[in-house]
Amino acid sequence: MNKCKKASNKCIFCQIVKKQIPALIIAKNNKAIALLDINPVSDGHTIIIPKKHYCDWQNTPPKVLFAIVKLSYKVIKILNKSLPIKPLGYNYVSNQGKIAGQQVFHFHLHIIPKYKENEGFKLDHGKIKVKKIGEIYKYLTI
Ligand code: 5GP
Ligand code: ZN
Repeated sequence: MNKCKKASNKCIFCQIVKKQIPALIIAKNNKAIALLDINPVSDGHTIIIPKKHYCDWQNTPPKVLFAIVKLSYKVIKILNKSLPIKPLGYNYVSNQGKIAGQQVFHFHLHIIPKYKENEGFKLDHGKIKVKKIGEIYKYLTI
């Protein structure tokens, strides 16, 4: 797992929060901001970022996660009401760690509208060989 990166002048999302670089903000609350992703996977692809710097999901306090979840409801309302084509569904995604695809080490939740089955985000079930879940469960039983 990557080392958690602290806030720095180089963090692109901290710079957005401080209004040092522009962003297309569509909603906000006291702890988080929702903005359009600069490189969208689908039309309306939005990311929600906390105003304070936390490197990933695991290092974000529950109170802040809750504020992000609350803001996600607002974002969905806006996207459902105002996009030229109404999304048929959404994927809510957060990548943790470089290996999982995290590029910006300031926690963010992706909200990815879905218009067609084979476009946008998709889990790749069945593509690689994995252990039986019963075998995995043996390690995890509490
Ligand atoms: P990750 O790969 O870390 O889960 O997602 C980072 C996301 O941030 C990417 O989807 C990328 O397009 C987006 N992104 C990177 N830099 C900027 C930026 O300066 N502005 C905006 N709005 N999005 C950004
Ligand atoms: Zn940051």
